[in-house]
Amino acid sequence: MQRSPQHTLNNGAAIDVLGYGVYKVPADDCEDLVSTAIDAGYRTIDTAALYANEAGVGRAVRAAEARGIARNDVFVTSKVWNTDQGYDATLAAFDASMAELGLEYLDLYLIHWPCPERNLFIPSYKALETLYHEGRVRAIGVSNFEEPHLQQLLAATDVVPAVNQVELHPWLPQTRLRQVHAELGIATQAWSPLGRGAILTEPALVSLADGLGCSVAQLVLRWHVQSGHLAIPKASSAGRIQENLDIFSFTLSEDQMKAIDALDSDRRSGSHPNQVN
Ligand code: NDP
Repeated sequence: MQRSPQHTLNNGAAIDVLGYGVYKVPADDCEDLVSTAIDAGYRTIDTAALYANEAGVGRAVRAAEARGIARNDVFVTSKVWNTDQGYDATLAAFDASMAELGLEYLDLYLIHWPCPERNLFIPSYKALETLYHEGRVRAIGVSNFEEPHLQQLLAATDVVPAVNQVELHPWLPQTRLRQVHAELGIATQAWSPLGRGAILTEPALVSLADGLGCSVAQLVLRWHVQSGHLAIPKASSAGRIQENLDIFSFTLSEDQMKAIDALDSDRRSGSHPNQVN
């Protein structure tokens, strides 16, 4: 069984560098795939109210507990959806997520998108602070926040986000935002770390992976780890779930890292945060 190294968040909580994401995992398959991931060695699972599969994540975590994997050895993230922003609505959304998950506490709760036109992320985050102070969630953070959103948030709230989960892969390395995170003590977590699969046919990556004798997915995930951010790849088969975690027995050289860095082309697989409301 593989095991990801851990990263200590700004409040002392530990999260695996490599986790498993379940966006677009159908509700009916979610428990089995998350159980497969946990058995493969994953201990960090990323879901969201939007994904409509929190119940399957919760069942898999509880089943793992019954097999002897302690609840506090597993790290579960969920997110408040855009239409539930606002102080009271966020508290209610959290309760709804926890009812779906069937867990006593959550490890990380994120604001899914800043939704600047709604202009509610500050009261939403204040609700996250309340949940954090009540001990119902071990860490709080944001997702898809750009630098101006972070600055606005920090000026109006007390708890520095532990994580900003953003689209990040070799085509979109988020260099400036990562600098801001480093200055503020916020961990960068990469969503769509494999560019939703599209990056896996990039010729420069195919050639580097061939030379190393690893898959392109493993090469890209290794680049994430050596770049110092967290990543949560999604995969739908036991083979890929296993393959994506099997990246801790090789190292990319400085030249290989630079060759991947050079693919920066400001190319997104998802929406720009200012366009989601
Ligand atoms: P990923 O970059 O993780 O790519 C997933 C795609 O890559 C799937 O098509 C998958 O295929 C394929 N794939 C995975 N592993 C391999 C492999 N070893 N070889 C070949 N193909 C592979 O994209 P996601 O958009 O799913 O992002 C990952 C996670 O990030 C999500 O599940 C979610 O948890 C989070 N996320 C968060 C967002 C946010 O706004 N906060 C937005 C989007 C995602 P298959 O499934 O068929 O195996």
